[in-house]
This record gives sequence, C-alpha cells and structure tokens, in this order.
Amino acid sequence: MRKKAIICVDDERVVLISLRDQLTNYLGNDYEIELAETGEEALEVFEELQQEGIEIPLIIVDQIMPGMKGDELLIQIHARYPQTLKIMLTGQASAEAVGNALNHANLYRYISKPWEITDLCLTVNEAIRSYRQERQLAQQNQELHQTNQQLQQLNQSLEQKVRARTSQLQQAKESAELANRAKSQFLANMSHELRTPLNGILGYAQILQRDRHCTPKQKTSIATIERCGNHLLILIEDILDLSKIEAQKLELNPTDFHFPSFLTDLAEIFRLKAEQKGIEFNYISSDCLPNGIHADEKRLRQVLLNLLGNALKFTDSGSVTFKVDVLGGLVNSVQESTTSLQIRFQVEDTGIGITSEHREKIFEPFEQVGDRDRQSEGTGLGLAISQKIVNLMDSKIKVKSHLETGSIFWFDLNLSAATKCLDTIPVKAEQTIAGYQGERQKIMIVDDRWDNRSVLIDLLEPLGFELAEAANGREALDKAIQWQPDLIISDLVMPVLDGFEMTRQLRQIPEFQNIPIIAISASVFDTEQQKCRDYGCDDFVPKPINSEDVLVKIGEHLRLDWIYEPQEIQSTSSKASVDSAIIFPPDSELVTLKEAAEIGDFDLVEREISRIQQLGSQYQPLVNKLLQLSQEFDDFKIIELIER
Ligand code: ADP
Repeated sequence: MRKKAIICVDDERVVLISLRDQLTNYLGNDYEIELAETGEEALEVFEELQQEGIEIPLIIVDQIMPGMKGDELLIQIHARYPQTLKIMLTGQASAEAVGNALNHANLYRYISKPWEITDLCLTVNEAIRSYRQERQLAQQNQELHQTNQQLQQLNQSLEQKVRARTSQLQQAKESAELANRAKSQFLANMSHELRTPLNGILGYAQILQRDRHCTPKQKTSIATIERCGNHLLILIEDILDLSKIEAQKLELNPTDFHFPSFLTDLAEIFRLKAEQKGIEFNYISSDCLPNGIHADEKRLRQVLLNLLGNALKFTDSGSVTFKVDVLGGLVNSVQESTTSLQIRFQVEDTGIGITSEHREKIFEPFEQVGDRDRQSEGTGLGLAISQKIVNLMDSKIKVKSHLETGSIFWFDLNLSAATKCLDTIPVKAEQTIAGYQGERQKIMIVDDRWDNRSVLIDLLEPLGFELAEAANGREALDKAIQWQPDLIISDLVMPVLDGFEMTRQLRQIPEFQNIPIIAISASVFDTEQQKCRDYGCDDFVPKPINSEDVLVKIGEHLRLDWIYEPQEIQSTSSKASVDSAIIFPPDSELVTLKEAAEIGDFDLVEREISRIQQLGSQYQPLVNKLLQLSQEFDDFKIIELIER
C-alpha cells in the first residue's frame, strides 16, 4: 500500500519531536510524519513527497516562525495542493493571521499551544476521515465525469448513427417517391397514349352506330368494336385509379345530383343485362330516399357498377337484388338546417358464392378466386378500387357469402342532402340528333392528329355544321381571324402553340372574347380541366369522346334547337317515317334539283344538294337522304322524294 504523510512545521525542534511522537503513537505506521523547521523547508519537503507520489492528507503548521509565517505557507500550499487539509498550531497567532488562513487557505482547524494530546489526536483523526471522504467523493466525481463523458460520446455516436440512418431513410423515401412519381407519370403518359387511338376507334364506332345505312349485321359488329373499346377504356381507367389510390392522389369530387334517377338508371342497365342472361333482377328502394344528395356521383356509380356487375357475372340462375335503404337520419349539429342520412347500398345474388378463406382476399388488387373461366372476364381490380373509394367515403364494403348459395355485398354511407333543389329528373335524350334549326353554324376543330380531327368532322358534318380544321394553335389563330367560326373545339397538347396559349391569345382579340371554346383532351389530370378554364375555355370534354356529350355541349354553347330522327327511323326504314323527319325548303329551291335528276345529271344533282345544304341546317336530314340516293345513282327515288 502506498504510504501517506503528515507534515509538521515548527521552528522549535522540541515541538516537532513531540508532535511526531504523539502522532506516531496514535496513527501507527500507516503515516510517515515529516518535519520541517521553516516554511521554505516545508515547501521543499512537500515538493519531494509529491514527486515520490506520496499523498499528503494533512499539514500542521506553527504561525510564528522566522522567514515565512504559518498563514503565508498555508496559502502557498493551498494554491498548489488544495486537497491537503491544514491545521494551525500556535500560541500567539493573531486573529488576522487565522482569518487570513481561513479565507485564503481553507484552514481546517486552529489548535492553541500548549495542546491536549486527545484534542490533537481527535482533530487529526477527524481531518484524516474528512480527507478520505473528500478523496472518495473526488474520485466518484471523476468517475461520474468519465461516465458522463463516455455517455456523451455514446450519445454523439448514436446521434450520428441516427442522422446517418435518417438521411438513408430520407434518401430511400425520396427515391421511392421519385420512382412513384415516375410510375404515375408513366401510367398517365401510357393512358394518354392509349386514349388517343381509342378516340378514333370509339369515335367512329359511335358515328357508324348513328348511320342508318348500316345493315343490322354491320351494326352488331360495330357494337362489338364499341364494347371492346369501352372495355379497354375501363381497364386503362382502373389501372390509373389504382395508381392514383396508391399515390394517395384519388380525391372525391362531390356534387348535388338527383338520387332516385341515379339509382333507377343503374337498375335499368342491369335489368336489361339480367334479362339477357335469363336471371331475375329486383330493385328495391326505400320510400324515404332523398330527392337530391351531395356525393361523388361518378365514384358512387363506379362502386355500384362493380358490385352489380360482379353479382350478374357470378350468377347463372336465380336472381340479383339491388336494395337501397335509409337506415336513419342525422341532423348536422354545426349547420342545423342540413341533414345527413345513413343509406345502405346492398347487392344480393344467388350465384356461385365465395369461400370464407377468400372473403378478405377478393379486396386485394388483382385477386380473383374460384372458377378460372370466369376470371378471364375481369382484372381483379374492381373490388380493390371500390373498397378504397368507399374507404374515402368513410365506410367499408362488407360481404357475407356461402359457396353455391350466393353473396351479399353492402356498405353504409352518411350522405348529406343536396343543397340545391333537384325536383326535376334530368331527361335523357334517347333520340338521335339529325340536325338543328336555324342558320348554319361554323365550327373550327383544332387537333394535331388528323384521326382525331376526322372523328369530329365525320360526327358534325352530317348534322349540317360548316367545319374548318387546324393542326395547332398558331394555325387556328390565323384561320379563326379569316374564317370567323361560331365555336372552337380544341385539343390542349399540341406542337407549335398549345390549346391553352391559343385560347389565351384568342381571348385578347375583341371579336373572340365570347366565342365558345370547348377543350378536348386525353389528359387524365383533374388539374388540366381547371387549368384550361383558367386560360379561358368554356367547357371540357375528355378523350375518347362520347359523341352524345360533344353534341350536348355544342348545343348548349350555340343555343341550338336540335332536330331529332323519329324513333321509328332508328328501328325501321319505312318511307313514311323518313319523310316525317325531313323538312323541305320552298318548292322553288327544288326545281333545278328535280330537273337535274330527270336528265340524270348527277354532277348537277350534287351541286344542288350542296346549295340546299347552305340554305339552313334544318334541311340536313333532307340533304343526307338526297346524298345517299345520289351516291346510289337512284334518280327515280330523288324525284319521288322531291314530289312527295
Ligand atoms: P373481377 O370481377 O374483375 O375479377 P373484382 O375485384 O371485382 O374483379 O372481384 C374479385 C374477385 O372476387 C372475382 O374475380 C371473384 O372471384 C370474386 N367475386 C366478386 N364478386 C363476387 C360475387 N358476387 N360472387 C362470387 N364471387 C365474387
């Protein structure tokens, strides 16, 4: 064990010897007792002991000595070795010297000479214990300090690791987001690219469906083309919806709409399909359904079409029942006047059913269960998308099913009543438009793809519109100034000058400030619609176009009174019904035409037909009929028609 020392300083040798003997007696051999007769010597002894690595817990000092005084020595020692405890042992020390030692050397005790041995021993004993405790504390403090430092280092390295991991995660998140954006962009681009040719396929299928000269066999083939095209379109939309859902970009767009007619329209579609399949179809709705509701009509229809479509697809005999029930009404507490109703939509079938193990799986994307033959009829996306849509509406599609017995799919929605009054049921135009009343209207079609332009031309020309084409916005601007159209239908994304910029520039020309401009686009972004309105477009039609929608919008913006083909014409081609659809110009306008037909001059016949076409759009049905007869070189029928 390392030795410890106590230094005693006194100018009287006898005192020193007596101190040494008393302390040695009391402390035994554990402590060396070092002696010094002056302050200077004491400092040297201190120095030497320190160099030998000996601990000095205590110094006992006389005050009055030649040379350095006791208080002065203690102050110097305290400055260098603060841990050593200091005792002053003197007969004549002034209060000033003691105060000095107390204030500047942290004097531990003062013992006056002559001292009592017991006093000295107890004081020394106490001092040594106090020294030990302080050393222990100091050591513990140091250990704590070290532990603290280690902890801090650990903390720092942990923080570094966390920072590195966070930055790795951030990078991974960013690259995942980038990949997701790239995927969404890719899907959006693919969808745009696929929609463009579909516009040609579906557009012409619709135009040919309107053509009365097609034979029933041709009509069936055209209907197949249209059905396949529509199927492709649904697939594109499903995949796009799914990617929007994954990217959390699918948003609901609620509007007010007429609820009972929305439901009966759906029921009618499926009643017809069920009839064709030889299945019973029941539509049961509550008497208390609200007239108008506020919801996302398109998405609600999408979900119901999916559930009803599946019920019909997976049922070969028995029935499909579509039930819409009001479960209860709630008064909105924020706005006392508006109420919301809890409505249950339920589709029940007596079809093949689903096993319990498959019941949750069917809501996963691309999951199809059961019979392989039926799987080819779908993609396995419908229920996944429907579930996500219903989730967005704060509900969940539930299912009960038993194999070979049938299935029940249902969901409950809290729907608020429409704020607008929706008493009138929107009437669907069932009839085919054949022309319009009044002056001939000029429509300019702007699209960089000729096939898209020609779909619109072939749709609109037979109805009596005068048409002009432009392949980009710049060409359209130049042509519009010369040609002065009554309405413009324009694509949005085009080379040279796009549809947005063309519209913006047109709106700055006084005569085009109010001309109706309908944007037409294969873009799938909802923002595109808003953007084209911001640039000054009046309306938006998505590609592939629906011919009825295009005509309805043109009619609205040009305030047209349509002329319809009577129902009979669409089913039979009896002369009487053809005649009833046709409006004739005054007799005088038909004289030359009749003469040309009588002499078989078909060039003149066609010139006359063009002239009659210029007289007014109401003569378009007549012009169509005459053109058909002229192409068949049927002069007799032309004369017969004019005479009648
Ligand atoms: P799809 O009908 O296009 O295959 P869905 O996501 O709509 O995709 O349906 C997923 C699967 O759930 C179907 O393939 C079928 O196996 C099962 N399913 C859905 N509805 C019914 C039903 N009414 N009866 C039996 N099976 C059903």
